[in-house]
Amino acid sequence: MGERKTVLITGGSRGIGKEVATVFAENGYDIIINYESDKTDVESLKKEFDEKGVESLIIKADVSKQEEVDNLIKQAIEKFEKIDVLVNNAGITKDNLLMRMSEEEFDKVIEINLKGTFLVTKAVTKYMMKKRQGSIVNLSSVVGVAGNSGQCNYSASKAGIIGFTKSIAKELASRNIRANAVAPGFIATDMTSVLSDAVKENINGQIPLKRMGTAKEVAELIYFLGSEKSSYITGQVINVDGGMVM
Ligand code: NAP
Repeated sequence: MGERKTVLITGGSRGIGKEVATVFAENGYDIIINYESDKTDVESLKKEFDEKGVESLIIKADVSKQEEVDNLIKQAIEKFEKIDVLVNNAGITKDNLLMRMSEEEFDKVIEINLKGTFLVTKAVTKYMMKKRQGSIVNLSSVVGVAGNSGQCNYSASKAGIIGFTKSIAKELASRNIRANAVAPGFIATDMTSVLSDAVKENINGQIPLKRMGTAKEVAELIYFLGSEKSSYITGQVINVDGGMVM
């Protein structure tokens, strides 16, 4: 049997992140789940993993705070000694039209989505470089590619993640570390459950496959990019959006 592999998923307590943890666990990985506030969901996921004999660790940390990120990585390395795959999934929205958007709404989204991705990647890469091996998957969005009215803060953060991913893919390739981004379309999670039925219907009408995606459909792509199955793919942005953006 080969060496066991470890994946760190930020924002893994709910939605896409939780599904990513489940898919990696099904494929024999040890799991580190970071969350920020929602302890109930993450504890029930940990219990599920314990019952299935999956090694896991849950760590509370705000990815936008350097000190909390340092503590997150310290605890993860103490337990598993290495991180083979990093999934930068933690993300928020604070939607508003440009003219109504506050500085706080803009800053908060950039801080968690973009700066959080930078802080966690920098901290984890140190250990990946030592091992000369690693795979990083960052959560962008189709709106980071195509834009969306009412989401200038979120779209900017997700477009920023694309530039960040391509830059680190170039920087880290010589150390055998790959970096890719996924760009989901509309996926049924808490993030999109706030939309009204009328808005959802309108969105579905604009998607060639005529429905929202599931967290599992995104998680399967993330697993592919995180694992050795995609060993010759780096610096790419792959859409998982039912054909919304072509
Ligand atoms: P979600 O259901 O709202 O879950 C968000 C996750 O992020 C939760 O686990 C939350 O933890 C965590 N989180 C929030 N702020 C954090 C912080 N400061 N530090 C650490 N963790 C934090 O979201 P989702 O729909 O699964 O989205 C996951 C990712 O996919 C996000 O990056 C999102 O932008 C991206 N995405 C989603 C869609 C979509 O349609 N759903 C489309 C494109 C891209 P707590 O539970 O502790 O709050």
